[in-house]
Amino acid sequence: METTLTSELCENLRSWRHHLHRNPELPFQEHGTAAYLAGILETLGGVEVTGGIGGTGLVATLTRGSGAGVIGLRADMDCLPLAEAGDHAHISRNGGAMHACGHDGHMTMVLGAAAALAAGGGFDGTVRFIFQPAEEPGRGARAMVDDGLFDTFPVDRIYGLHNLPSVPAGHFHLREGALLASEDNFEIRIRGRGGHASMPEVLVDPLVVGAEIILALQTVVARNIPPSQSAVVSCTEVVTDGSRNAIPSEVIIRGDTRSYTPEVREILERRIRGIAEGLCAGYGASCTVSYIHEFEPTVNHPGCVEAAARAAISVVGPDGVNTTADPVMGSEDFGVFAREVPGCFAFIGNGTEPGKGGTPLHSSDYDFNDDILAVGVEYYVTLIRSLLPVST
Ligand SMILES: [Zn+2]
Ligand SMILES: [Zn+2]
Repeated sequence: METTLTSELCENLRSWRHHLHRNPELPFQEHGTAAYLAGILETLGGVEVTGGIGGTGLVATLTRGSGAGVIGLRADMDCLPLAEAGDHAHISRNGGAMHACGHDGHMTMVLGAAAALAAGGGFDGTVRFIFQPAEEPGRGARAMVDDGLFDTFPVDRIYGLHNLPSVPAGHFHLREGALLASEDNFEIRIRGRGGHASMPEVLVDPLVVGAEIILALQTVVARNIPPSQSAVVSCTEVVTDGSRNAIPSEVIIRGDTRSYTPEVREILERRIRGIAEGLCAGYGASCTVSYIHEFEPTVNHPGCVEAAARAAISVVGPDGVNTTADPVMGSEDFGVFAREVPGCFAFIGNGTEPGKGGTPLHSSDYDFNDDILAVGVEYYVTLIRSLLPVST
């Protein structure tokens, strides 16, 4: 892939990415990662680094000229608790920890943008390079915001990238509105009356009630969500205190829901509660239902998408940019930032060939594709120069 970046920066991008890949750290434990990033950022002319925001979060600020505009570029720092199975030279040194989601590449692209903008300028205003901890559990963005991220380091807009295997290397996929779903978890705790398996007539069997609830929950998407909208309701765990010949007294059903809008999310929660409580009452059992918001939906602001699409097209051409990409039912912690300030999250293709970017995310033999590092950096640099233009 051709690039306008210097060969020195391109070499640095690879070696930074390989260092980060070799030294993965789990959520909220990204101390070495933050120190490594800060060490490089501090060598760039005019970059001010502040660490310890929301735990291990890091913000680097670069100002040129006197423009009032402020743009945030965000990357995620954490890895997954997986044992790496790849056979490349930069394989993880931390057993049981691995950059299987490409956050090593995301950090490198934002770091590269900082290096290119610090060296080359070409903008008038302020850029904040934001490195968040704990994306995978969906906790790090909230931790940074609650720690005063945007009070201390305000931004007008925020942008981010996630690599996507199965999309051609360096192509961009984005859309206005919801790009990634919310994730909520529910737990239904059903209490009946347990006892001898041979005497059901004197008991209230919570397992039979639970079975009815699991089937009835599948009517929520089919019968309560408007057909034009999307949602998923999945029961994922059933736990009982019964044994081979004893009917349980308690059954716990856990599950996971996905949706793109607050309205659909509200319907999911209301119907899950209604079905569980109604069926329990009908059978003489009782229940408590907890419903926890894990991830916000990632909703892209139209004005931010327009600027992002323009930047992407100017780097890879119109054939490499899909501005009406299908939304994805996965979830992203970027959604928390995009609720606070207008933002745009986009996917950058990691490649289609197995072993060369096409291996799915969260696989033990996944690896970020080094060939797209320069594309991501050029996208960020182009975006900053178009949003914070130097007046002539
Ligand atoms: Zn992930
Ligand atoms: Zn990820």
